[in-house]
Amino acid sequence: MAMKTVPEALNLRSLILQNFEEAVSETNPDKKEALMNFVVVGAGPTGVETAGALSELKNHVLPNDYPELDISKMNIYLIEGEPRVLAPFSTQASAKAKEFLEKMGVKIFLHSRVNAYDGEKITYNDILTIPTKTVIWGAGVKGALIPGLDNAEIVRGGRIKTNEINLIQGFNNIFAIGDLAYMETKDFPHGHPGVAQTAIQQGQQLGVNLINIINNKPTKPFWYFDKGSMATIGRNKAVVDLKFWRFQGIFAWLTWMFIHLLFLVGFRNKLVTLINWIVNYFSYDRGTSVIIRKFNRETMKEADAAV
Ligand SMILES: Cc1cc2nc3c(=O)[nH]c(=O)nc-3n(C[C@H](O)[C@H](O)[C@H](O)COP(=O)(O)OP(=O)(O)OC[C@H]3O[C@@H](n4cnc5c(N)ncnc54)[C@H](O)[C@@H]3O)c2cc1C
Repeated sequence: MAMKTVPEALNLRSLILQNFEEAVSETNPDKKEALMNFVVVGAGPTGVETAGALSELKNHVLPNDYPELDISKMNIYLIEGEPRVLAPFSTQASAKAKEFLEKMGVKIFLHSRVNAYDGEKITYNDILTIPTKTVIWGAGVKGALIPGLDNAEIVRGGRIKTNEINLIQGFNNIFAIGDLAYMETKDFPHGHPGVAQTAIQQGQQLGVNLINIINNKPTKPFWYFDKGSMATIGRNKAVVDLKFWRFQGIFAWLTWMFIHLLFLVGFRNKLVTLINWIVNYFSYDRGTSVIIRKFNRETMKEADAAV
């Protein structure tokens, strides 16, 4: 399953809890194993953070919630095609992230490409399999293209090729920005990173350029200001890559939290989140694990939603 929207995140939460509910009463050891095996595909920031979060659940939350289950039998696999985790980060950050994850019990398979998933087992590198009821896709998003862009050049991941002012090639009045846009520049010959900053900065630049076009003024090519990259792996463990400074561990983790707190809208939200984080940090718990909206694995929708 994929996780992009808040409802999808809630579905994933339900699925994880439902797996453990099922595992409690499952007597067939193979089926029990599949319910307790979690496979995350793609070791970019999304996959690394998800695998880390699952490991935190395993180590700190689930043993209290399911005392009747042997939680040590829960396996978290992270499968990545590249030779290292966090490939777009510095080698230092990537090595540390791998070390953190392995210490937390995540099983990492590098140089490994997923080929298929049939709902019971995932196949990678053509012949190897892992029995699992849960596959979390963190290996990239695909552009939601609209019909009518026949002249446009579509590249990997369903991204639309644009020029340096985000104008779609082959058109003179259609622009693409953010994740959907693929713009080759001298600094980014393979396109810009698919992160929020790219979308925000391209949106701002295009706004200025549209006004310039209306006023018959020259346009300015997009230039990406890289503010750095961060990924959090777990409690006291994160990696931060800034242009002139790279650091990992607890200070990186505090930096990650501070930046995310800063970007929350409104003082009340910031305060409530900070208090929740402090309580979670000391209590090692994540609140009541109630399944508030059951997830249907077959339809990939919440069970009560109209199909
Ligand atoms: C799990 C996950 C974690 C991430 N974490 C980070 C992070 O920590 N930091 C970071 O910088 N980036 C992160 N990203 C990436 C970041 O979310 C994206 O780069 C960013 O949202 C791109 O913005 P966008 O506006 O281009 O696209 P989106 O945010 O995807 O917005 C596109 C919108 O268009 C709508 N849409 C699509 N088709 C149509 C249509 N035909 N008609 C009308 N509307 C349509 C979609 O519903 C969507 O709301 C993460 C992404 C994922 C999936």
